[in-house]
Amino acid sequence: MHSPTLVILAALLAALVTSVLYAVWYFHRNIPGLRLWVLSFLGATVFSTTLLLRTFMPEVVSVLLAQGAIALASYTCLMGSRAYVGRSPLGHGAAAVGMVLLLALSAYFTVVHPQPGARFALAGLFSGPCFLLTARTLARGGFRNVPVRYLVGMAIGAHGLFVLVRPALFKLSAPLTGFQWNDELLEVLSQFVVLEATLALVLIGFGVLMLTHEFTTRELRHLAEVDPLTSVFNRRAFLTLLDKAISNAQRMQRPLPVLVMDLDHFKRINDTWGHHCGDDVLRHFVQVAGRCLRKEDVMGRLGGEEFAIFLPNADGPGAAAVAERLRATVESQLVEGLGPQGRNGPPLTVSVGVALFAVADTGEAVLQRADEAMYLAKQRGRNRVEMPER
Ligand code: GH3
Ligand code: MG
Ligand code: MG
Repeated sequence: MHSPTLVILAALLAALVTSVLYAVWYFHRNIPGLRLWVLSFLGATVFSTTLLLRTFMPEVVSVLLAQGAIALASYTCLMGSRAYVGRSPLGHGAAAVGMVLLLALSAYFTVVHPQPGARFALAGLFSGPCFLLTARTLARGGFRNVPVRYLVGMAIGAHGLFVLVRPALFKLSAPLTGFQWNDELLEVLSQFVVLEATLALVLIGFGVLMLTHEFTTRELRHLAEVDPLTSVFNRRAFLTLLDKAISNAQRMQRPLPVLVMDLDHFKRINDTWGHHCGDDVLRHFVQVAGRCLRKEDVMGRLGGEEFAIFLPNADGPGAAAVAERLRATVESQLVEGLGPQGRNGPPLTVSVGVALFAVADTGEAVLQRADEAMYLAKQRGRNRVEMPER
């Protein structure tokens, strides 16, 4: 294709993708990293526009603009991906030093010792590692959990690898094609580079859109599954997980203990200290209970001050021990901040019922039996564990 046409197309596409991402960011500012990705695409737009207009400005200006823009684009791409996956921002020292070095050397190889080949290699030395690090940042967390991150990471990584090795590729092929580092080769090179960069830009742009979709979907799922007050699963999500765990336990012929817990005299806490403090007590309870559990144990809020837990890797006696430890820990932990003048309020206690699933049980049925056991604990004086034999 005619080179200027290609560059015009690249600049138009870069501007278009940047505008689309800007619009998405404008309406979804809560998506982490999206602002930085918009800046990254802005860098790509400046880069391609500089290529387009380079005959209208001094060479050193166009070189510095292009090198600076592409370096910033790759670095903001890396920062965006770190923000998206929830990692801390980088200290910018190393990047600043790298960028100053890049610009100084680019100026040197333009004004003092003009060498387009060296400038070409330099461009990849900064942006290549940035793109590769971006790929490494995104491709984490398990392909089954976050497949989109791996796909986008692969696209960005391939682009990073290419910008890093492309000078060597051209150098190796130069003797074969008979090209020297002259205007002719430079023309072919810039065409090829612009074509690859344009394809990468569009692909990564789609990738970022896919990531915004992934974020929104995960956020909606979180809202649908998690209780906003205590951050444990809500009743519906808990039951779904319990049903899955039960069919697993049936297949493996293993027991699955279920605990139902109800805070004692919770109404009194609300009446004495206010609804706000009641909410604090619920959060406190979840924190304390969480400390008694293993990673694979699942907790849910069935409603009000009633919670449930299932323990996938425990048997009956193990579950009774966990329930007793939980009861004792809740009793021994004072609720901080409750009570007049900083004194602590009444000790919090909990009644616990334990049931083991039986063959052909559903989640609802085993929960019902654990609930009955919990009511037995209430009848027998509260602050105790009941696990009736069947
Ligand atoms: P028992 O020992 O028999 O369980 O007595 P109780 O007072 O805990 O039981 P009851 O069912 O009478 O009271 C439960 C109270 O929990 C009533 C309701 O106002 C309160 N409650 C339910 N949901 C919430 C909530 O989200 N926040 C707060 N602060 N209170 C809640
Ligand atoms: Mg209660
Ligand atoms: Mg209750």
